[in-house]
Amino acid sequence: MISLNGFAKKWKFDFAPLEAVVREYPFRLNSYFEGLIQSTGDAVWKQVVPDRKEISDPSGFEDPLSEESLSPVPNLVHRYPNRVLWLVSDQCAVHCRFCTRKRKWRSAHSPAPENAAQPDIAPALDYIASNEHIQDVLLSGGDPLLLAPERLREILSRLRELRHVQIIRIGSRVPCALPHRITPTLAAMLSEFHPLFVNIHFNHPAELTADSKRACTILADAGIPLGSQTVLLRGVNDDEEVLAELFHGLLSFRVRPYYLMQMDLARSTAHFRTPINTGLRILRKLRNRISGPAMPHFVVDLPGGRGKMPLLPNMIREIGGGSMIVQNYLGELCRYPLLDGEEQGLRAELGVKTN
Ligand SMILES: *Cc1c(COP(=O)(O)O)cnc(C)c1O
Repeated sequence: MISLNGFAKKWKFDFAPLEAVVREYPFRLNSYFEGLIQSTGDAVWKQVVPDRKEISDPSGFEDPLSEESLSPVPNLVHRYPNRVLWLVSDQCAVHCRFCTRKRKWRSAHSPAPENAAQPDIAPALDYIASNEHIQDVLLSGGDPLLLAPERLREILSRLRELRHVQIIRIGSRVPCALPHRITPTLAAMLSEFHPLFVNIHFNHPAELTADSKRACTILADAGIPLGSQTVLLRGVNDDEEVLAELFHGLLSFRVRPYYLMQMDLARSTAHFRTPINTGLRILRKLRNRISGPAMPHFVVDLPGGRGKMPLLPNMIREIGGGSMIVQNYLGELCRYPLLDGEEQGLRAELGVKTN
């Protein structure tokens, strides 16, 4: 782990103005991820280096998705009937400055991951065991792949004892931010618990390295379907070329892009937020330019825990005269004939007012 002091010396900047920031939101960076920084202020830098704007952000919420109020037992979030989000770890390989769970960051003197005091898993397991509607358990955190392997195995095997839990998903940044931790031994352990899926947090093509590729290959070779989640970040990846390269590169790593996420309204992250329009514009430009399986869904996680909402650019320009006018991927207007009597139903479905 790298200290802010050491990092600032190496990169020749004055860290004193950032001390107040890291007292509130600690700095965490490892030497692998630091090695991806090419120059001061680049896309990797912005993700992990503290910024004074973090403590002068009056907007946003401590808990933008109301996870605490949707939490029947500690560290478990039950929002949708058939699935739960279980925060099994409070440690991460790096601290992303735009984190939606900044409220959970530990003090600057947090112990190393393996020595951290471990919360009791029994309440979450009991809750899942007693709720037979739960078919799908998402492990997140923090980062589940930073847990000691024996502890992760314990959690997974306890979940597999529950017949109604069909799907297990792990959300992790480790294959991207600390890829050497992914070994064939770890992958073989995970593969004992199929169907098990891993969703990896990747944000920029600079993160697509020989090391992260090896980590993804080890997991994919263990039969684990891989997806990615990318946060749309101002000044980091809010650009069609950057995301085209990222999504295509991920597919070539056998990782299928799953979500492109609008920044949550978390406190102290406002400087990363893009207009909704940016995501829609990028999606429209990428559609049919990159391969279909490289296209993620653009989602906004609504404040108050009201759910993830996919947004799509509107391609339908007009409905009338027995046809609809749509705009194709080249920007051309095309007429598509509708069935007799279809117009009304289509307008209703789209929520378009009838004159
Ligand atoms: C994102 C999320 C899920 C999983 O949503 P999917 O769309 O199925 O990937 C489940 N629970 C909570 C609380 C979430 O935030």
